Amino acid sequence: MTGARITAYIGIGANLGNARASVEKAIQQLDTLPATRLTGQSCLFRTAPIDAGGDDYINAAARIETRLQPGELLQELQLMEQAAGRERRFVNAPRTLDLDILLFGSQEISTELLTVPHPRLTQRAFALIPLLQIDPLIAIPGKGPAHSFVTAVAGQVICKI
Ligand code: ADP
Ligand code: MG
Repeated sequence: MTGARITAYIGIGANLGNARASVEKAIQQLDTLPATRLTGQSCLFRTAPIDAGGDDYINAAARIETRLQPGELLQELQLMEQAAGRERRFVNAPRTLDLDILLFGSQEISTELLTVPHPRLTQRAFALIPLLQIDPLIAIPGKGPAHSFVTAVAGQVICKI
């Protein structure tokens, strides 16, 4: 926990229970993680589930500054998911809370546990659009300006709420 201070972006989603409250609570909780503070947040968005049934998702993104290592941050996020009552029953199952590391500074990470930038960031409106709302000029390491991927996700319905 003595690493350099890194700006990271977290994608947040929920489509079970009081999804809106879960997402809002998770954003605030990021500010209470060790060696971490919340520095920005998008508004909430509603999106239809992709490759899955179930209710619409509530999605948002948050920007944090953290001295945690990427693996430590992932662990903290997974603890938050568990505390929110998340069960991993099957791929793309409805979830009370999903927390993904979208970006971790300018780092490109590829391990068994962690792929950053998040592999679906450039393909999913629910991740890309909230991120761009926080920082319209953000670049995705190894891929280019985030806004250049907007046309690729233009067919996916996403509504600000
Ligand atoms: P989803 O891909 O739908 O978000 P899960 O939330 O169940 O699925 O995550 C499955 C696994 O994805 C996690 O156990 C984690 O190790 C891995 N993972 C890989 N890259 C990331 C990332 N950037 N952020 C969060 N989890 C990640
Ligand atoms: Mg996830």
